[in-house]
Amino acid sequence: MDTAYVYSEKPVLAAQLVGLAKSFEVKEVLAIAFDDESSAALSNCGADGIIELSGDSAMPENNARSLASWLSDAFAVDPGLLIVGATSIGRDLSARVAGYLDCGFSGDIISAELAEDDAISTTRSEYGGAVVLAETLPLPAVITVPAGRFDAASGAASIIDKGTLEPDTRIEVTGTTPIVKEGIDLSRAKAIVGVGMGFSAREDIALAEDLAAVIDAGIGCTRGIAEERHWLSTEQYLGLSGLTVAPDLYVAVGMSGQVQHLAGVRDSKVIVAINKNEEAPIFKAADYGIVGDLYEVLPALTAALK
Ligand SMILES: Cc1cc2nc3c(=O)[nH]c(=O)nc-3n(C[C@H](O)[C@H](O)[C@H](O)COP(=O)(O)OP(=O)(O)OC[C@H]3O[C@@H](n4cnc5c(N)ncnc54)[C@H](O)[C@@H]3O)c2cc1C
Repeated sequence: MDTAYVYSEKPVLAAQLVGLAKSFEVKEVLAIAFDDESSAALSNCGADGIIELSGDSAMPENNARSLASWLSDAFAVDPGLLIVGATSIGRDLSARVAGYLDCGFSGDIISAELAEDDAISTTRSEYGGAVVLAETLPLPAVITVPAGRFDAASGAASIIDKGTLEPDTRIEVTGTTPIVKEGIDLSRAKAIVGVGMGFSAREDIALAEDLAAVIDAGIGCTRGIAEERHWLSTEQYLGLSGLTVAPDLYVAVGMSGQVQHLAGVRDSKVIVAINKNEEAPIFKAADYGIVGDLYEVLPALTAALK
């Protein structure tokens, strides 16, 4: 493989994908962008060049078919690798591209390295994080990588080629409603306080927010807090079916630590758990544990840190 391609609509994640691609010591790493604004946002992503493939689709995943067609020309000469950021857009796009290319796909990888005979070996977790699956895919292949898993590259990158994509028009966008995001972007947060079902009332989340304010953390949660109780937004729940994060510090408060939640937070550098049940599985995943009632521990911890 001479060339690896990366795509993410999130510039910070795109730079991390470039960092991974450069570890393969390929001749060039090219970043793909779908419009001028995205190309400009990649200007310091460390890639050897940016390929701007513009279309007029409001949904990047609608570019999948023509992106696959563009890549299949490139891959016919040099069977390469497409590395996509594992966001909801990236997951939609990458799986479709792999389908159109009829090539191997490994999603949300933990590690990747080049293997013999033009192949790539990856590991990823399976069954909600219960096992790690090792796979070897012949190139060309498509993989997705969650935010925070690899160090970002940096360095000036400029557009080296432009092309036009024929967007897939089978889906018509009739309107869009922006999601209003509040607080710290969890995919970039250095610290996150996670709220679990051990909180008895919505207003008690203020205790977690007080701690978060002192340590400059974002607020995440388990699925039940977002999807059953609707106390926090679905954007904030972490885990297998939620967001994958990798902060320096994750403070897991009042949560049991089921594998589906841990799948999204296990890459945190340090996990601190607060739970009143010393048998809670979260303590097996934690670096530090405080056995106690969150209603006593959180105010004390916040006061001490202040
Ligand atoms: C297919 C599938 C996908 C899933 N995906 C996700 C996902 O992406 N993310 C996710 O989070 N979940 C996910 N789940 C749900 C997951 O299995 C768990 O049910 C969920 O994570 C549990 O949330 P919890 O730990 O907040 O609640 P619980 O399991 O109810 O734990 C509450 C904890 O709080 C403790 N506690 C109670 N009161 C206090 C107190 N006063 N002080 C201190 N501790 C206290 C208890 O001891 C207990 O350990 C998924 C499930 C399935 C089946």
